[in-house]
Amino acid sequence: MFNGLLKDLAQNLKQFPGVGEKTAQRLAMFLISQDKDRSRNLAQSILDAVDKYNNCTQCNMLAETDPCSFCSDTERDTKRICVVENTADVFLIQNTHEFRGIYFVLGHLLSPLDGIGPTEINFEKLADRIKQIKPEEIILALNPSPEGETTINYIASQLQPMNIAITRLSTGLPFGGDIEYTSSMTLSHAFKRRMPI
Ligand SMILES: [Zn+2]
Repeated sequence: MFNGLLKDLAQNLKQFPGVGEKTAQRLAMFLISQDKDRSRNLAQSILDAVDKYNNCTQCNMLAETDPCSFCSDTERDTKRICVVENTADVFLIQNTHEFRGIYFVLGHLLSPLDGIGPTEINFEKLADRIKQIKPEEIILALNPSPEGETTINYIASQLQPMNIAITRLSTGLPFGGDIEYTSSMTLSHAFKRRMPI
């Protein structure tokens, strides 16, 4: 229905999670109809965040600084590393107030059929980090989906010779991919009742 720049704008908006054709068109129309400065501020804010956020070289999370605020915080307990799928999960776990250790973000879950192997989940980087800081416990806070289970099994088997406690959150908890359905309270309980692998 749209053409020209408006069509391009709608097509770009359609890439957002949960945004279909109709919503994308409505948003595109809204952006060109509202006060121009508000739309310019939004565009600038996107540019600023996109340019400024990069993967922390230590934990791989997306952060404004490198190392990120967690890796550079000397108050945090380096005896525990919590391994999560993505940066959003770090903030979910922070919200439970159950964890004072450091994090590692895999970026993906293993999915050999989709070409996502150990390199894509940054396993070597995790292994290097573990050798470097020698933690006592690795908590695998991953979604119990087929990909999550594959990832948990892979990491646990690879780390076994290192003689570190490897734990996971209590089972049945939709996490990561279904983060919005997991309350902070549920996650907090799952964290407290974590189990050895
Ligand atoms: Zn970091």
